[in-house]
Amino acid sequence: MATQRILDFLATRRPTGPCLVVDLDVVRDNFRAFEKALPDSKIYYAVKANPAPEILRLLAAMGSSFDTASVAEVEMAMDAGAPADRISFGNTIKKERDIARAYQLGIRLFAVDCVEEVEKIARVAPGARVFCRVLTDGEGAEWPLSRKFGCVPAMAVDVLRHAKGLGLDAYGVSFHVGSQQTDLTAWDRALADAKVVFATLAEEGIVLKMVNMGGGFPTRYLRDVPAAQAYGQAIFSALRKHFGNALPETIIEPGRGMVGNAGVIKSEVVLISKKAANDNVRWVFLDIGKFGGLAETMDEAIRYPIVTAHDGTETAPCVLAGPTCDSADVMYEKTPYPLPLSLTIGDEVLIEGTGAYTTTYSAVAFNGFEPLRSYVI
Ligand SMILES: *Cc1c(COP(=O)(O)O)cnc(C)c1O
Repeated sequence: MATQRILDFLATRRPTGPCLVVDLDVVRDNFRAFEKALPDSKIYYAVKANPAPEILRLLAAMGSSFDTASVAEVEMAMDAGAPADRISFGNTIKKERDIARAYQLGIRLFAVDCVEEVEKIARVAPGARVFCRVLTDGEGAEWPLSRKFGCVPAMAVDVLRHAKGLGLDAYGVSFHVGSQQTDLTAWDRALADAKVVFATLAEEGIVLKMVNMGGGFPTRYLRDVPAAQAYGQAIFSALRKHFGNALPETIIEPGRGMVGNAGVIKSEVVLISKKAANDNVRWVFLDIGKFGGLAETMDEAIRYPIVTAHDGTETAPCVLAGPTCDSADVMYEKTPYPLPLSLTIGDEVLIEGTGAYTTTYSAVAFNGFEPLRSYVI
């Protein structure tokens, strides 16, 4: 949503070129909502969603922990004031020398999903805590993360047993139910798998302590999504159902849900045209596209709300495309986007819900376009 603060900033500063404006008040509210919805879970903000230093500093000051995926992200979290014991290295794919560097920096919590990765950690991060990621089907998510990360629960048992054997602290199980997950029961299925791993290892005397329930909490795009409170309740009852009174420590790693609705991209209409005189679909070209930060429009997965000064007047379907000389730089074509007929070249539009996964996805200088500028206010 474009908050009044964002609208005032754009009206007074009038930045030229496409830019993202993030309202820290919204991030603060989101953090508090997660704390309230899941009071017994530690919050590890997924840095990749938006690593702007102002956001990381705010969250560090509010007591957040951080989920990082590289040494650079570890350093960003530390620069923002987070101590090493509030940072996890949550990427299951790490170079051994990066594990060593993170360990030197004090990081002691690492993700794995295979014995090969466990061996790297055992060599350069002795005694560290490891949690094993299990696969989920990503069902119900608009941006599924399935297949690439995690292993089946039976393999997670082997991985954690191996970790223990190599002197590591076999600490727990993690999963990610898929990003922009609107099915409240997704956590129930994943927690059932986590419980199997806990129970199987317990029989061998290996007592796991933690379940990392990942991200997936949605932000509002065109459709309403359940509030954090609804997720909290669904997750808490699933935990009770599978773990009874022996509740493990839990972690959540919101990315999109923490910053998505805090940001708005201001963009400009560069061209409106047709491919034939009798076409009824217009092509609307913006000064931002897939390579300027809107990569999540890939396969038209994420559909952003677009606000124009002409809203409320008659609309017609448009193909929405970016400004680069790459034919893949088309955001919405299979499902055209309805935009006002009175929209004209030079008009500004606001693309809402763009606080997550935009600046980090923007190319350095494709066709000479500068990377997406961001203002955090
Ligand atoms: C990307 C990522 C997240 C954040 O996911 P969202 O769906 O944006 O909340 C959390 N954990 C891990 C391990 C991730 O890779």
